[in-house]
Amino acid sequence: MFTKVKTRFAPSPTGLLHIGSVRTALYNYLFASKKDGEFILRIEDTDVKRSKKEYTQVIIEGLKWLGLNWHQGPFMQSERLDLYKEMCRKLEKNGKIYKCYCSREELADMREKSQKEEGFTGYDGRCRSISKRKAEDLEKEGRDFVWRLKTPSKENLVFEDMIKGKVEVNTDQIQDFVIVKSDGMPTYNFACVVDDAEMEISHIIRGDDHLSNTPKQILLYRALGKNTPSFAHLPQVHGTDGKRLSKRTGSVALNEYRKGGYLPEALRNYLALLGGSTSDSQQLFEWEELKQKFDISRVGKSAGVFDIEKLNWINGKYIRNMPAAELARRASFFLKKEKIIDDESNIPDKVVEAIELEREKIEKLTDIPRRIDFLLMDNITYNPKAVKKRLEKEGVEVILKDIKGVLEENQDFSKKGLEDSFRKYVKDKKIGAGKVFHPVRVAVSGRMKGPGVFDLLEFIGKKKCIERIEYALKEFVQ
Ligand code: GLU
Ligand code: ZN
Repeated sequence: MFTKVKTRFAPSPTGLLHIGSVRTALYNYLFASKKDGEFILRIEDTDVKRSKKEYTQVIIEGLKWLGLNWHQGPFMQSERLDLYKEMCRKLEKNGKIYKCYCSREELADMREKSQKEEGFTGYDGRCRSISKRKAEDLEKEGRDFVWRLKTPSKENLVFEDMIKGKVEVNTDQIQDFVIVKSDGMPTYNFACVVDDAEMEISHIIRGDDHLSNTPKQILLYRALGKNTPSFAHLPQVHGTDGKRLSKRTGSVALNEYRKGGYLPEALRNYLALLGGSTSDSQQLFEWEELKQKFDISRVGKSAGVFDIEKLNWINGKYIRNMPAAELARRASFFLKKEKIIDDESNIPDKVVEAIELEREKIEKLTDIPRRIDFLLMDNITYNPKAVKKRLEKEGVEVILKDIKGVLEENQDFSKKGLEDSFRKYVKDKKIGAGKVFHPVRVAVSGRMKGPGVFDLLEFIGKKKCIERIEYALKEFVQ
């Protein structure tokens, strides 16, 4: 039926890109990649009031950031209105649709009835058989009309969903639905099917909130005389509280993740796992490998639970596997924001070395500035708690003065050289190593945590270490 696998992502630009939609985009991309097919981007912007150009931009940037490159598009539905008109005329010519002149009140009555009467779908088809005369009169009166599809009665419509399995609907449950609104704009179902048919989309992968649209869409394919694609309806993404994903259990919009210091490859990896679309035990996938191992039929029937802890873990893994220079490049936006660098395109070696020292502890790109700032800045601030705990203590004065002497005399300011002279000092004085390392660390870094103390001293350098110890002696040590 279809000569090539083609999928599409068809967001409406009415808000930021929701993480559930991102997963939908990813699965469409992976599905097409695995089958050497094509992935198409289509912006469904026929809702003129709610669609915004800024959102289209956000969608495009988000997909690019994630590396979900499309083969064709972005197609804008608002630029394809002629096509929908043409298809509407075709359906009219073939007697598949009819004009409905019902007033707001009539429709409201029918809707009310449908709530009370079981089996009544909301529209009774009364305009199907309107006489030509009557229609002309109504049009002369200036009555608005919509176009409705003639849906078959009492037919069992069956399709095989790649995730949900067999889905059956009786067409009696489908009213003659609107395909073109009174302002001439196509409805979602109509524009979507016209485009999917024209673009020869072979597999429709989307959220299961659209499952109830699918029978209607199948009827539209038929009416248009087009091949019906295969469908896969993805379960929703829920938070760890089992409810629809909300701000409380994890950010909802993709750009929050970008701003929050996540790597696109980690997010992709996580979203692929989220649906259970890969083999059970493997957690981390190279991009190419993911394309090969992705299997839509493995996606579970129940909602995927978005677990931010797991995403953090995966992100940390990717970060730890990345060369420090690359990490610095990825973090350049955040480094600049925190004034650690001035120019995003020019990252000093010192910054890369500092990242290297702290890499094991980094989980998100946003962690980087505060982990390395004290290693790079001329003036550090001293954490009051650290000062109180480690410097404002008896005996510290002597130790810091001694260590200052040790550092001044030290010829080899390498990690190894420093360690040797410290060990010797501790041994000579017969004091515990911690008693020396802790105050020295705080004196030279202003904080309790950081890289190993010798890494720290080596990195900061002889001159600065001595200056800082002098400063600490003067300011904090009685
Ligand atoms: N514009 C629709 C949405 O964003 C597309 C649904 C579909 O993939 O058919 O929900
Ligand atoms: Zn009507």
